[in-house]
Amino acid sequence: MTAGDKKKRRMRIVTGIRPTGPLHLGHLYGNVRQMIELTERHDCFYFSADYHVLTDKTKRIELTDVVEDNLIDLLACGLDPDKCTLFKQSDIPQIPEFSLILGMVTSVGLLERCPLYREQVKELGIDSPSFGLLGYPVLQTADICMYRGEVVPVGEDQLPHLYISADIAGTFRHRYADIFPVPEAKIMEVFARIPGTDNRKMSKSYGNAINISDDEGTTKKMVLTYYTDPKKPRKGDKGHPVECPVYYMHRLYLEGEPLDAVRKGCESGERMCYHCKEELADEINGELRPIRAKRVELMQDKDKLHRILEDGAEKARAVAEDVLAECRKAIGIDRM
Ligand code: ATP
Ligand code: MG
Repeated sequence: MTAGDKKKRRMRIVTGIRPTGPLHLGHLYGNVRQMIELTERHDCFYFSADYHVLTDKTKRIELTDVVEDNLIDLLACGLDPDKCTLFKQSDIPQIPEFSLILGMVTSVGLLERCPLYREQVKELGIDSPSFGLLGYPVLQTADICMYRGEVVPVGEDQLPHLYISADIAGTFRHRYADIFPVPEAKIMEVFARIPGTDNRKMSKSYGNAINISDDEGTTKKMVLTYYTDPKKPRKGDKGHPVECPVYYMHRLYLEGEPLDAVRKGCESGERMCYHCKEELADEINGELRPIRAKRVELMQDKDKLHRILEDGAEKARAVAEDVLAECRKAIGIDRM
């Protein structure tokens, strides 16, 4: 197959979103936009990774509600359920069995070396990490290979997990059979890191996020708390837009002359950070207004949302059944 053929062929893309809370601008620009675009050219399987939430949560949360809310966000942002397969992980009963089988070809050392695992254990101060947390990449590999995923769009932060998935898939194929492809990562580089109000990466758990589902007042309040260039405490001080998250965010909404005006006004000191943030709040609210209106509309038809997930799960289960049947045969447990 030439590179040209490969380009034209519709690739099977698989990616999951952990339903840990509402989607924010980091998700919108860091991956939802790309997810939508990919559905135009590829065969996309998108799922809500609800089992994955249990790896680092100690309290019970109403996962079904979060899954539903995330689905509303995705559809409101423009994801078309007719152009992709949308479902939730726990609706696919083949996943736990497949994950168990893949676990048998995974070395503990490989999982313990995963930098994301080590970081998380340290960050969360976990004394005795769960089997599930250590095994996160195994379940993730099952999530991808279950549907014969070829390409996984990821942020740079997720790369170590993908390398582990490729390793596990490769080991299975080497030991048993060539049933599914070894998945490849596709790094999403456009606006790779959306800054939160404290200039760290926008994240649910940092309390620095602007949610798609927030109302305009909340968004404005949040935007006005944005960190700005500390070398420019007052109007008249010369600013450094390249280092400022507010300028970074303006770049998502403005271009050409209006964007130049923001940059020049900041550099010369003419602009006040407060006004700069007020304008940014208007830009964000303007962008999110139609999405928020669509959310309200979608919330009125819950049955339709459930149907989307049921139809998606049915399609996903058909592939999963096939892959699992082949795996059972390959490992020698298919006959009575
Ligand atoms: P948590 O605080 O629980 O880690 P989060 O808000 O960081 O939640 P994740 O579930 O970790 O969200 O993010 C899922 C994916 O969304 C990331 O792998 C990345 O691709 C994308 N993403 C999240 N936040 C950002 C961001 N600030 N900029 C760009 N992409 C982001
Ligand atoms: Mg995160």
